[in-house]
Amino acid sequence: MHELSIATNIVEIVEEEITKANAKEATEIVLEIGSMSGVIVEALEFAMDEAIKNTRLQKANRSIVELQAEAHCTKCQNKFEVDDFFAVCPKCGSFETDIIKGKELKIKTLKLN
Ligand SMILES: [Zn+2]
Repeated sequence: MHELSIATNIVEIVEEEITKANAKEATEIVLEIGSMSGVIVEALEFAMDEAIKNTRLQKANRSIVELQAEAHCTKCQNKFEVDDFFAVCPKCGSFETDIIKGKELKIKTLKLN
C-alpha cells in the first residue's frame, strides 16, 4: 500500500528530528498534500494511525492540509486550477501547460516537546 510506506517514511523523518533536537516527543504534525500528489488523504490518515503506534509521535496532534493543484499556461500565461495531468488551458485551449502546484507531499509544521 502506497500510503503506508509514505506514513512510515514520515514517522522515520519525525523520529529523526526528535532525536536530533534531543526532544521527548512530537506534539504537533501538519502535513501538506497536493491534490495531484497521488496520495489519498483518508488512506494516509488511516496509515498514519497505524504507523505512529509505539513511536514518539503517537500523542501528537495531526492534521492534513490539502492544496488544490494549479497549472500555468506557457502560451497565454494563464493560471488555473486543475485536477489531472493533461490540463487544457481554459482561456486559450492550449495543451502547453505546466503543473505549478499540487504535487506537494511534505511536513509543513512539526512541533516537538
Ligand atoms: Zn492559455
